[in-house]
Amino acid sequence: MFIFGFFGLFLALLDRFSLATVLSIDSLMDCLRLSFDIVGPFNLYFGLPIAIKYYVSLNYIVNLFDTYTSQTKNTPQTKPFLIPQNTTYIRQRKNNPVNQTQKIINQAKKEGRKALLETEAKTICAEYGIPVTKFMLAKNEKEASAQADQIGYPIVLKIVSPDIIHKTEAGGVIVNLKTAADVAAGYKKIIENAAKYKADVKIVGVLVSEMAPQSTEVIVGAIKDPQFGQTVMFGFGGIFVELLKDVNFRVAPLTADDAKEMIMQLKAYPLLNGYRNTTPADIDALVAILCNTSHLIMDYPEIKELDLNPIMAYSKGAKTVDARIILE
Ligand code: ADP
Ligand code: MG
Repeated sequence: MFIFGFFGLFLALLDRFSLATVLSIDSLMDCLRLSFDIVGPFNLYFGLPIAIKYYVSLNYIVNLFDTYTSQTKNTPQTKPFLIPQNTTYIRQRKNNPVNQTQKIINQAKKEGRKALLETEAKTICAEYGIPVTKFMLAKNEKEASAQADQIGYPIVLKIVSPDIIHKTEAGGVIVNLKTAADVAAGYKKIIENAAKYKADVKIVGVLVSEMAPQSTEVIVGAIKDPQFGQTVMFGFGGIFVELLKDVNFRVAPLTADDAKEMIMQLKAYPLLNGYRNTTPADIDALVAILCNTSHLIMDYPEIKELDLNPIMAYSKGAKTVDARIILE
């Protein structure tokens, strides 16, 4: 009876050997221990069924690792930095084979997509030193919960689909989820909403994202003006931009002084400068975002529109919560 069991385990190992070697010996031992834990107690009574169970459990664990390794690869670096004014630095990056931005743009062009997915736009932002909320892409409920555990609560879920550009409109954003069970239920709801929004909607997955604490919301945008070329915009979120049109534009490339002016010349600037005893926002962090956005659009003239809306401005740093990039 045991023989069948161990034979199954042996087969399972053979089948997954190449993958297993990719994992460290430690995690391989964990796999074995876990699969013993799952089926161990039944070992005395069953032969072949146990062999199958070994196989299934090992497969399950290897899949988990697969998902884990592909996700850690996809999670972009979110450490903010200010790209030096000397743009040869960027040109070097552009020719660098590790350049994600070029790859993402090429891929979108190949697929005939004009609007980049939020995951793609945020990866590009991160590569250009624009800080974004930590995120992962989930393909099912279980994955979403596991990723939420890894990122930490509260969690925001968002639909990732080439057919949905304005996610809130499609019921594609759920904020402030506090448990793994809430995340699983939220995942289901978002997929249902997307299907209701468009019958043959194409769904890439659901973005599992850290929830950025509330703060003053600002917007950075970029457009290609037919007369002036690439232009960067800065304003405050919500009614300030929609109702009061309190925004500033500058033609790219921007210097840090240009960026500072764009911020400080807004009528609502006192909101960022410690209005009514609030802590002043980190203006340098916003200047860095503006300058790096300018570098990005100068490097990639095929970017027709860029919209970082909103960005949470904090007393130390800032975080882009939503990023949209549209190609020509
Ligand atoms: P869309 O603009 O496509 O509708 P957003 O990603 O901007 O979708 O989400 C809508 C709103 O939800 C945002 O304006 C913001 O207020 C809130 N939100 C989204 N993601 C986060 C997040 N990670 N942290 C905090 N708030 C968020
Ligand atoms: Mg938005």
